[in-house]
Amino acid sequence: MKHSLYHRILIFYIVLILSVIILNMLAYWLFVSYEPAALKLDAKDFTSGQNNLAYYVLDHNDETRMTFSAAVTKQDLDIAGDGEYAVLFYQLNGQAFRVSFNGEFIGSVGDIETGNSNIWNSAHYFFLDSNKVKDENILSIDLLSLYDRGLTAMPIYILKTSELNSLIGYAKYSTEGFNQIAFGISIFACVVVFILYLISSPRNSAFLFFSLALLFLGLFTFNYATIYNMPFSCLIFKKLVYCALYLSVSMASLGIYKLFHRKADLIFSAVTLLGYFVVFIFFVRDIITMKSIYSYFNILVTLNIINWIITSQKNFKKRGEAKLFLIGNLLLFLCTLSDIIMGICGLSFSLSTPFTYSIVLSTVSIILFFREFAIKNQQLELVNDAHKKSYLASITDGLTGLYNHRYLSDVLKKITHPYSVAMLDIDDFKDINDSFGHRFGDAVICDFAHKLTNHVRSTDIVFRYGGDEFFIIFPRCSAENAKEVIQKIQVALNENTFHHDGQVIPITFSGGIYYVSCFEDADSIFEKVDKPLYHSKKEGKNKIALYNIQKEL
Ligand code: GH3
Ligand code: MG
Repeated sequence: MKHSLYHRILIFYIVLILSVIILNMLAYWLFVSYEPAALKLDAKDFTSGQNNLAYYVLDHNDETRMTFSAAVTKQDLDIAGDGEYAVLFYQLNGQAFRVSFNGEFIGSVGDIETGNSNIWNSAHYFFLDSNKVKDENILSIDLLSLYDRGLTAMPIYILKTSELNSLIGYAKYSTEGFNQIAFGISIFACVVVFILYLISSPRNSAFLFFSLALLFLGLFTFNYATIYNMPFSCLIFKKLVYCALYLSVSMASLGIYKLFHRKADLIFSAVTLLGYFVVFIFFVRDIITMKSIYSYFNILVTLNIINWIITSQKNFKKRGEAKLFLIGNLLLFLCTLSDIIMGICGLSFSLSTPFTYSIVLSTVSIILFFREFAIKNQQLELVNDAHKKSYLASITDGLTGLYNHRYLSDVLKKITHPYSVAMLDIDDFKDINDSFGHRFGDAVICDFAHKLTNHVRSTDIVFRYGGDEFFIIFPRCSAENAKEVIQKIQVALNENTFHHDGQVIPITFSGGIYYVSCFEDADSIFEKVDKPLYHSKKEGKNKIALYNIQKEL
């Protein structure tokens, strides 16, 4: 993978994440700003003795099952218009509720007897028979609340069924939809980081821990999932999903430790796990204590994040990935801090949904991994380049750049017949060296090599056999055709005479050609092609001869 491909993947991922965030914000904004023709009933409209339906964290002495009622007149319902009505509930805290209109049951959600359901982060609706509407009506909610109750943000709507369709779409999207996306992003990032961890070599365990952190984060999103009937108690469910959150934070701390090797991260990882197990498993015996503790216990999550900020700040100058961590962690810190403050103040709105955490953790892990992957690939490419270069150096001749004798022997072992070979030797090269110097001799050799490569076909291969001897392979070519090519080279050499100190130096060569019709080993070929070359030299040089089987030239 090239570095530019890494950048392209990153840009694609960032655009994808930004699109998800923007689309979600848009959907949420559309929902919040959507003003249906409906009767809106706020928390204060529903009362039960001294209490109303405003969001409230339960005390051990509080009633867990209460009935809240609101008065609805026919006149109030005129806002919604005539027709069939529906009652829409959105984020009503409690484990179960039953709804009645004028004492008549119209629907229920969750497990009203034992409370083994998780339904608060969802939207529900029930139909209301318009014939049952009188001048004065009572809408009642029989609510089972095990640890907190009431309406967090949204009112309860009574509206025409035709209006319901658009509102329910938005409502479901910004409650369950948000959460499903957070689950999807976490698990997607978990799988990607895990696969990349498996295929990378050597394996960096930091990414295994990030992958686990993402997996546990995915499990934590079940805290916001709509489950109508759980097979175990609400307390066990909450303990399990919170276990996943602390496991996720602990694994992330471990991953960061493996990446930056700062002991504090290791300590935080252990303390987070131990703290969770000791407090939640051994000391929290009921759901109300659990609920009141976990807002404070989230401080441990924030301390982890503060520690990540310190680690990334300490490595800011040394390590590129530390910058990325710092940005992500600062964002997480703000979200978690606001969550804790709101939890302590008893406010409902919270930024620290799994959505933010999953986006930050997934993005940081994926970007980090691809970054490491790109760096490793770059190193691998450099090694490959070095291997290629040294191999090329081993099969070429340093002076001319032609292939050398060693490669010639390899090629002759593999090449398919028939083909012709030619051996060329510069005439009286010793004299040229002796008369004009070795450097001039070198220039002649280079120029000669250049001419050879320029005159042969692209499929022919030219080698420097050694000294002033050259070898050419002409695949699928007769000896006669090979001879024609070599004669052309002879002509070219005659036309382009060499000069030394204003003196014209004629350079000629002699050659032998042999046609290889079936497999023959290299030594036999060298021996055969040497015969016509020897003949050319003997016959006065500047000649080309063919190997002749009858004459055994
Ligand atoms: P002949 O016509 O019979 O081939 O005579 P010759 O003088 O060319 O004899 P031969 O081919 O045996 O000699 C080759 C000479 O080439 C010997 C050596 O000094 C010289 N030589 C070999 N390699 C190089 C080189 O890389 N550069 C230079 N300048 N000379 C070389
Ligand atoms: Mg020679």
